[in-house]
Amino acid sequence: MTKIIDGKLISAAFKEKIAEAIISLKAEQNITPGLAVVLVGADPASDVYVRSKGVATKKAGMNSYEHRLPAETTEEELLALIENLNNDDAVDGILVQSPVPDQINYQAVVDVIDPNKDVDGFHPINAGNLLIGSQGFVACTPLGCSILLKHTLGDLTGLDAIIIGRSTIVGKPMAMLLLQQNCTVTIAHSRTKDLDKKCAQADIVVAAVGRPEMVKKDWIKQGATVIDVGINRMGSTETGKAKLVGDVAFEEVSEIAGAITPVPGGVGPMTIACLMYNTLKAACDRRDLDIPDVFDEFL
Ligand code: NDP
Repeated sequence: MTKIIDGKLISAAFKEKIAEAIISLKAEQNITPGLAVVLVGADPASDVYVRSKGVATKKAGMNSYEHRLPAETTEEELLALIENLNNDDAVDGILVQSPVPDQINYQAVVDVIDPNKDVDGFHPINAGNLLIGSQGFVACTPLGCSILLKHTLGDLTGLDAIIIGRSTIVGKPMAMLLLQQNCTVTIAHSRTKDLDKKCAQADIVVAAVGRPEMVKKDWIKQGATVIDVGINRMGSTETGKAKLVGDVAFEEVSEIAGAITPVPGGVGPMTIACLMYNTLKAACDRRDLDIPDVFDEFL
């Protein structure tokens, strides 16, 4: 029978450990980690993400600093804010919500974030550290997918994995994580030939494309594990909430996959949990404190 990988449940257990670690950090070191989230403009989806990050931060026992800037903010103004946050000792993690308005170069902004506070793991130093297998911050979504795979499959050594999508925030770091875990990795993209046939050979399929229900049943090998990163908004539900659909045709793929993440309730909750983890890690690393080993069972 197909196993539904419950990201809500797994992220709840992970967040519980994070909250416990933060209680100890406060009690033993008098430290409360702080996460600063910057939103430029009023994109409705970004607004929801920023709000939920703020709620999760406070729930974990950390300080949340929200900076909401008008859509006409210049790159210079944003860079000046980042510089202040870099120098603010109360701030352990800095995240700039994407997308940013056209007048701002997102990568230029990421480049000035202190790599030790780059809890999104997007700074070139952290991306490079992942590539060479050094310590650093790993991007939250691929880290969350990796935790789900470990939870579902245990040791991934020798498995064939295909990642559909080669973005800097999901596809490429995901490939590095799976390579580190001794998978044989294929990275597919919009120019890949015979994608369905390549997918059908994989033990692990990670779909990070942004195309609703693109991955079909006949793309999947019997018993494969399918991780659906995609979040596609398809109108609204009866209660007026946005209806979310993944990149995988969930119903039909469930008939053949060994395990599969739902959308919503799969990768999404893990992304936020990993942001909390990275912020805790930043608070510890900046002060040369060891992060508790209770996280080994997840990572
Ligand atoms: P990008 O748009 O940056 O990248 C999409 C990738 O998909 C590109 O590499 C593109 O190829 C590839 N692609 C597009 N069309 C096809 C196709 N027909 N066949 C094969 N590959 C294709 O997206 P992101 O990586 O930022 O996000 C991907 C999805 O994941 C989105 O739905 C996004 O909303 C979601 N997401 C979810 C998160 C979560 O927390 N659950 C977090 C981040 C993203 P090429 O490079 O050739 O253009």
